[in-house]
Amino acid sequence: MFNGLHYNSIATYLKEKFGCRVVKLSLDGGFTCPNRDGSKGTGGCTFCSGSGSGDFAGTIDEQIKGLSKKWAQPQKFIAYFQSFTGTYAPAEKLRSLWESALSCPGVVGLAVATRPDCLGTEVLDLLEEYNKRTFLWVELGLQTANEISAENFNRCWKNADFEEAAHNLSARGIKHVTHLILGLPGEDKQQMLASARYAARFSPFGIKIHMLHIMEGTKMGRQYGETPFPLLSMDEYVDTVCDIIEILPPQVTIHRLTGDAPQDKLIAPDWTRNKHRVLNAIQQEFSRRGTFQGFRAVV
Ligand code: SF4
Repeated sequence: MFNGLHYNSIATYLKEKFGCRVVKLSLDGGFTCPNRDGSKGTGGCTFCSGSGSGDFAGTIDEQIKGLSKKWAQPQKFIAYFQSFTGTYAPAEKLRSLWESALSCPGVVGLAVATRPDCLGTEVLDLLEEYNKRTFLWVELGLQTANEISAENFNRCWKNADFEEAAHNLSARGIKHVTHLILGLPGEDKQQMLASARYAARFSPFGIKIHMLHIMEGTKMGRQYGETPFPLLSMDEYVDTVCDIIEILPPQVTIHRLTGDAPQDKLIAPDWTRNKHRVLNAIQQEFSRRGTFQGFRAVV
């Protein structure tokens, strides 16, 4: 068991590594995305809000002040460049952003969310340099290993891009975290498990899982409004999450098991609004099964 949980939570990993609570600061580095500016596509992934999946991103100072009021205990921070594509800029801009983040009191590392097709040699060189200087991981939004689903939501890169990126990062000793979305239109449970197995093949440092959110202001939101399609119930989601965690090796850190959609923009599913209920249900399901992360690991 993992400190009372049934999985290897990143919060526990960071607490053990740094000796105190470590909080991620969600930052907007002012990036755009090649799937929005026309270089790879336009309109973005159909589920993506105009904020590039960084709806809560803000400045470092604002966030540190807010968190210091919330928790009296000492804490450290990971500067998390979450919005849009966090390596889609010249290396000098990335260097300047990362330097400025690392110079803030209490910041002990960097997390950079990006697309696998935005990791050219110059960016990899820079990531390698910073990986030697600080604690760092790179997040890759795989979402699914099913290329038909990926085409349907307009991902605009291929699994081969992911494979190359994961290989290049590993070859330089850089940790990566893979995002998966459950409940994409047309995907059944076996497909979702296949995506998790695929992600596990590349020895990720971590995995992030969340339910597909149908959001206002997105193409998928309009499609859902015109022709609603089936979404997972909370029970189906919990069952699939537990199955996925059981097949992940125990050393893979779990970064997220629910999403954080802005409440005022969420169209469906309604049950995702109550994060604690979902997390409790996952714990209860593991207790009922008597299983844990790695119980059925195959890699
Ligand atoms: S790659 Fe990321 S930021 Fe770009 S459109 Fe897709 S989800 Fe949004």
